[in-house]
Amino acid sequence: MNRILGKIEGEEGGPLIIFVGGLHGNEIAGVKAISNVFETLRHQNVPVKGKIVGISGNLSALRQYSRYVDFDLNRCWDPAFISSLKSGNSGWQNAVESQEALSLMTALEKESQGDYRKRIFVDLHTTSSDNGNFIIIPEDEADNHVVKVLKLPIVVDLDKYLQGTLLKFMHDLGFLSFAFEGGLIGSDHALNLHTAGIWELLKACEAVTSEHVNGFSSYDKITADFSKNLPHLVTVKYRHWVEDGNFFKMKPGYHNFQEIRKGEILAHDRSGDIKATCDGLIFMPLYQDFGNDGFFIVDIIDRT
Ligand SMILES: [Zn+2]
Repeated sequence: MNRILGKIEGEEGGPLIIFVGGLHGNEIAGVKAISNVFETLRHQNVPVKGKIVGISGNLSALRQYSRYVDFDLNRCWDPAFISSLKSGNSGWQNAVESQEALSLMTALEKESQGDYRKRIFVDLHTTSSDNGNFIIIPEDEADNHVVKVLKLPIVVDLDKYLQGTLLKFMHDLGFLSFAFEGGLIGSDHALNLHTAGIWELLKACEAVTSEHVNGFSSYDKITADFSKNLPHLVTVKYRHWVEDGNFFKMKPGYHNFQEIRKGEILAHDRSGDIKATCDGLIFMPLYQDFGNDGFFIVDIIDRT
């Protein structure tokens, strides 16, 4: 697999839109979806305005079908850490993900050059729990029309709990930057949602026109069933942090945005039961062995 999954530079005056897939190596739906879209763009000679780039995230972890090798490539984008890597002074210099971060950074810098009407960065992920279709975005961009075309729950304030995400790093470089979570890891649903969602985003950014892509996108059909019962906008109010080696185990059966009550037993670890600290909706319950975020509790923001 190559770092650059696809790149099309079209007519001037359009946006720059960068898609990253597989920042976590066991989440291959994004990589496949990006490749699908580029294949169609090329074979059908779809006219493009601006520049569309597809980039693969953690190549080493993708080869092993593992979330990461030495550390999480979506928690290391702290500007001080990245500059220490660039200058060769980090204590983590020889870690697999340090080399991945440097290579990814080089690709992102190279592809970001030039003047564009808009700059958009989309990070494609999948989750280990059901109903994992949502958008993660810094709050100041939650109303952006490009994000709203996906008609998925929008989660704000996660950046206050997750340090060093690539989407925050790109946000701070001036991109409209968000994570697009497609659903359960390894599911056909996630691949289909990501593929159709990429087409919707390309239309919303005016990189391609509806008349050229309507035949390829079945986004409304895919989302019709599940999106009506999901919240529109939520804010994160709690995160359960998992220490390594703590034997954290989520109780089975929880899915994203399921209502929970304060005091409800959600999981357990070596110290015993772990109870909900407040009422709310459970978010990103951890059903895989890797990761330090056990679960989050979110609250609906009502802006009607
Ligand atoms: Zn991920």
